[in-house]
Amino acid sequence: MQDIAVGGSTVSRTDILGQVEAVGVGSFWATDEEGRLVYLSAKALDALGGGGESLIGRPLVEIFSEVQQANGEEAQRTLGFQLRSHSRFDNMIVRVDVAGDDETGQRQTRWWRVSGKPYKDGNDRFCGYRGSSIDITAEYGRQLEAAQHSQFDPLTGLANRRRMGSRLSAMLTACKGAGRSCALVMLDLDRFKQVNDTLGHPAGDELLKQVADRLKTVIKDRGEIGRLGGDEFQIILPDIDDRGDLTGLAGRIIQMISQPYSINGKRAIVGTSVGVAIAPYDGVESDELNAAADLALYAAKGSGRGLCRFYTADLRESAELDSRIEENLRDALVKGEMRMNYQPLVSPHDHTVHAFEALMRWEPEDGRPVSPAKFIPIAEQTDLIVQLGGWALRQACEDAVQWPTQLRVAVNVSAKQFMNADFPKVVAAALAGSGLEPNRLDLEITESVFVGDVEAVDKTFAALKRLGVRLVMDDFGTGYSSLGYLNRAPFDKIKIDQSFVHGCTEGGTTNPAIISAIVALAKALGMETVAEGVEAMDELALVTERGADLIQGYIYSRPLTHDAIMERSGTENFVFPPSGPPRYRAGRMNFFRKIGVIHEDHYYKAMLRNLSRTGAWIEGLAGVPEGTDLILDLGGGQLAVSKVVRAAEAAQGLKFETALIGDGNDGLMTRHRVSPYALATAGMPLAALPAGSYPLAEQMSASRSPRKFFEVEV
Ligand code: C2E
Ligand code: MG
Ligand code: MG
Repeated sequence: MQDIAVGGSTVSRTDILGQVEAVGVGSFWATDEEGRLVYLSAKALDALGGGGESLIGRPLVEIFSEVQQANGEEAQRTLGFQLRSHSRFDNMIVRVDVAGDDETGQRQTRWWRVSGKPYKDGNDRFCGYRGSSIDITAEYGRQLEAAQHSQFDPLTGLANRRRMGSRLSAMLTACKGAGRSCALVMLDLDRFKQVNDTLGHPAGDELLKQVADRLKTVIKDRGEIGRLGGDEFQIILPDIDDRGDLTGLAGRIIQMISQPYSINGKRAIVGTSVGVAIAPYDGVESDELNAAADLALYAAKGSGRGLCRFYTADLRESAELDSRIEENLRDALVKGEMRMNYQPLVSPHDHTVHAFEALMRWEPEDGRPVSPAKFIPIAEQTDLIVQLGGWALRQACEDAVQWPTQLRVAVNVSAKQFMNADFPKVVAAALAGSGLEPNRLDLEITESVFVGDVEAVDKTFAALKRLGVRLVMDDFGTGYSSLGYLNRAPFDKIKIDQSFVHGCTEGGTTNPAIISAIVALAKALGMETVAEGVEAMDELALVTERGADLIQGYIYSRPLTHDAIMERSGTENFVFPPSGPPRYRAGRMNFFRKIGVIHEDHYYKAMLRNLSRTGAWIEGLAGVPEGTDLILDLGGGQLAVSKVVRAAEAAQGLKFETALIGDGNDGLMTRHRVSPYALATAGMPLAALPAGSYPLAEQMSASRSPRKFFEVEV
């Protein structure tokens, strides 16, 4: 051993190594040719406990456990492998269990960085390993934590935005290669802010954790769930593109999340809206797919009722339109562009009017009237609804006070207005300002108020009851349907939603049974019922027979102006005879939409005249006999395989092989869309597809049969 000169005196190398060992900065180890430990620095032996000496003779691989690299990516080559192949290894991170320094005797995990080199004798014979190690627990722990932090949301343990981003990119790359699909689901809690504001941030955090748990219960191992921040969640679901299945899954998510939460003994309810986009149809890159899912979510939120929407190309346009509406809506009140109209609620027994529902109208100076179904949801996303709603309430009270005294007025109140702590004061002021008797005012509230802080809702109900106004549950059956709550809340009236009334006389629907059930429930709770949206005589007969107390619908009258009501007040005694078509033309939507029709190798243009779940009428093709198989191209990859079941000269009635499904917005869509990959593998008539929409088709337009049908002008 060589000696080293230090400032006049000499120190042996063995001394230095001894000191290094003693201080514990590093330790040394050695094995025999079988890989058994023959030496370990005393300090390290102490740390490992177990009587020190007993470790001597044990295989090294039992003492040093292998660990994955902190970044989780590439596992290092295994220690056992290195030892067996007698190769040198540097800076390998291993896990060692050491005796704890507390009395509990619990062992602790520490991480060491170890290096080792095979040791050979003069005859080049392998004799074992010589190596060093150093304890890096503090540094490694920080690395591990940072890696965890950069990938996961510390509150819920779900993947964070960053991880979801890289998972989605990886997934989409895999999809492209293999012709697979992948759905991206975006969720945003409805009225989470209210929980945060009223119950406090710790309660909000607790709620988010519970939401995460519920999502895990629904999704299981079918996909990866992430929290992007705030109350925004995202789910990546590989290999699913059936919009029917996704509708079902989204429905379960919405239902699960809308169940009440118990947070530190308090009850809270939130809802959720869901937007879905599917690769490769709605986007093939992750930013495209994210933007598509965001737009779908935005559209779902617009309806404000815990709905799921799928991305379609026209959502982009309507989002732009919405932002224009929002801009102009801000000035509409000031410019005097808002009006109130009133639609009668009529008794079906003597056709007398009992009340009018006040419905807001927006007539911009320089444009066509905008429907409240369009602008109210936009106003609800900003605080504008509070101003608009306050104005509607005052205007309706001022108008109603001039009507004959037996007539009541019903005013719609949005959840956001209702949640405002000042709301009872706003109502009191509208009554006092107009001089309207409180018992002539009804407030129509939808089920969406039952979310957020339940106790605050109860307080507002009580304050309103004290004022003497009546409360009406609007659009019953469409929202969160908290039947238990209905029992506790002091409603005087329930309005059965239009969706149960339209088409209630069609065979095979459960709507009449639902109407009967709601009427029975209301009677049991001492509430009146109103059937909304009655348009045809057969519907009027059915809802009357099922026991609805009042009817509101076009069958009696469309909404009227205040002036029109005042004109009547002198003459007729507010009797409105019903008038409307004898039967409701149910379930069909009438269109003049251009579509494509594929037959054999040819693509024809035709007009879609109406569409139901099970079939369609098309116009514009001549000479198509009954029994012909056609494929309807409804746009955006939606191909519906169908058969001609009725044939007229230039019009055909078609029956679909697979029924369409609802798109969450009163429209219909196909369950599946056809991707160019699928068409190619199914040997479909690619040549027939329109140029541009399926690039593959153009390459395969070689053989063509003659055209069988003519396109005619309709
Ligand atoms: P709602 O409160 O359920 O009002 C009933 C809607 O059904 C009205 O639509 C009415 O015109 C329509 N309707 C009535 N009878 C029939 C019928 O026989 N057939 C059909 N197809 N529709 C019928 P409108 O006026 O477009 O209002 C839509 C929604 O906008 C209302 O639904 C309500 O939720 C909201 N809204 C309207 N005015 C106000 C308001 O002043 N404040 C608030 N917060 N919301 C309002
Ligand atoms: Mg209403
Ligand atoms: Mg309604």
